[in-house]
Amino acid sequence: NRHIILKQRPDGLPRLTDFALEASPIRALEEGEFLVANSFIGLQPAARIRMGTGDSYAAPTPLGTPPYGQTVGRVVQSRHPGFAEGDHVALEGAWESHTISNGEKAWVFDPQIAPESYWLGCLGVSGMTGYVGVKEILKAQAGETIVISAATGAVGHVAGQIAKAMGCRVIGVAGGAEKCAAAVSEFGYDICVDHRDPSFAERLAEACPDGIDLDFENVGGPVRDAIWRLMNPFGRIAICGLISEYNAEGAIGGPSWQLALARRLTVRGFLLRDHLELRPSFIAEVSALLAKGAFRTRETITDGIENAPSAFIDMLQGRNFGKALVRV
Ligand code: NDP
Repeated sequence: NRHIILKQRPDGLPRLTDFALEASPIRALEEGEFLVANSFIGLQPAARIRMGTGDSYAAPTPLGTPPYGQTVGRVVQSRHPGFAEGDHVALEGAWESHTISNGEKAWVFDPQIAPESYWLGCLGVSGMTGYVGVKEILKAQAGETIVISAATGAVGHVAGQIAKAMGCRVIGVAGGAEKCAAAVSEFGYDICVDHRDPSFAERLAEACPDGIDLDFENVGGPVRDAIWRLMNPFGRIAICGLISEYNAEGAIGGPSWQLALARRLTVRGFLLRDHLELRPSFIAEVSALLAKGAFRTRETITDGIENAPSAFIDMLQGRNFGKALVRV
C-alpha cells in the first residue's frame, strides 16, 4: 500500500514538507471487510480542517497516518456479503493506493452511467453537497436570487446548475476572469463576479440590483461579508464551507450579527453526512441531466499519489477547476 502520511501539522498554508510518501504491506482481511484498489483520490478542503486540532466537526488526522479523502476503485478481495470482487465502489478512504473498508460510508456505483472519476465529483459527495444545499437546506424557489461562492469548484458547479434548473437567478463568485467566464458559458450562471477584483463588493452589488435571497456559502471571510451586506430581509444562508478560513490560526473575525437581526436572516450550517438518504434522488436527477447533455462538469486531475500534497496545496489556492482529483 502506497500512501501519503501527515508528518507534521501545517502552520497556515500546508507545505510539501508536512507530508511524506510511505509504503507498507496490506494486512489480511477480517470477516466483514473488503479491499479496494483505488483509482482516484478526491481532494477535499475538509482534509485541511482535519490536519489541525481546532474545534470542528471532524476528528484530527493522527500524525503519521494518511489525510482523509474520498476514493473510487475496484474491489480486489472481499469477505463482505454486500461487496463482491470487481465491484466499482466509492468510499471514505484516505490518500492511499488501497483501502480496507467494512462497508460503512461505501457504495457501489455503475460505471456505465458515468466515468469513474465523476463518482467523486459531480455524482459523488461533492456534487451531492451542492444538490443538498440548494434543494434541501436552502429550499430554493424559482425567481429567487442565489449567490454561490467557489462557483466553479467541485461543490459549486453542481449547486449552480441545480439552482439554474430550479429557475433561480444564479450569481457565482470565483477567482479570476477565466473561471468567471466559464461559470457563465459552461455552468449557466447568469453572472459570475471575480473575488480577486479590488472592486469585488461593488461588482457584486451591481450584479444583484434586487439584493440576494439565498447564499450558498463555501468561502467565508471577506467574500461572505460582501454577500451578507446585500442579503434581503428573510434571506436564507446555507453554510456549506469556509475555505478561506481553514488555514487561519487563532480567532477569525465574523459578520455583524446586527445584520442578521435587522434582516431577519436564517443561517443554517449543514453537513452532507446528515442527508445521505437523498443519494438515490440526487444520482437519478444529475445522471438524467448528464444523459440529456444538460449538465456540464470539469475535473483537475493530477497523476501519481506522490503528487497528492502539491495538488492539495494547489486546490487550497484555487488552482483547481472543478473537482480536484489524484489518479493513483
Ligand atoms: P473546490 O473545488 O471549490 O476548491 C476550493 C476552491 O475554493 C478553490 O478552487 C478556490 O476557488 C476557492 N478558494 C480557496 N481559497 C479561497 C479564498 N481565500 N477566497 C475565496 N475563494 C477561495 O472545493 P470543494 O468544492 O470540494 O469545497 C467547496 C466548499 O464546500 C469548501 O468550503 C468545503 O469545505 C465545503 N464542503 C462542505 C461539505 C459539507 O458537508 N458541508 C462537503 C464538501 C465540501 P476560486 O479560484 O474560485 O477562488
